[in-house]
Amino acid sequence: MNMNCYCGSGNNYEDCCKSVHLDLKNAESAEQLMRARYSAFRLSMVDFLYNSFHPNSRRFQKKTEIEQWSKENKWEGLEIIKATENTVEFMAFYMDPFGEKQRHHEKSRFQKLQGTWYYVDGRIVG
Ligand SMILES: [Zn+2]
Repeated sequence: MNMNCYCGSGNNYEDCCKSVHLDLKNAESAEQLMRARYSAFRLSMVDFLYNSFHPNSRRFQKKTEIEQWSKENKWEGLEIIKATENTVEFMAFYMDPFGEKQRHHEKSRFQKLQGTWYYVDGRIVG
């Protein structure tokens, strides 16, 4: 398979988010995990999205809600605005169930636990 990765990196999926989807430990940075989570939304990989939450915030998540959010929107693109070691500011573009174009602008926090990056939480910007 030769295609641009869902996260818009310009690399093939095989060389990009796939390795993280196979094993969370393969994310070498917060940004790489962020990209893999965006791709996972496009692919409705609910278990991956759930498991990549930090254990402290995971218990507040519901797989049914993750699945609904990933499926009811049409994901159209990701733009990384700024990434530091443990934060990523990004915009995700999507079409909502009413056919309206939407923009999700978020500053996310990540934390590494025993060598594995996790998504802690996010704050909506603007
Ligand atoms: Zn990717």
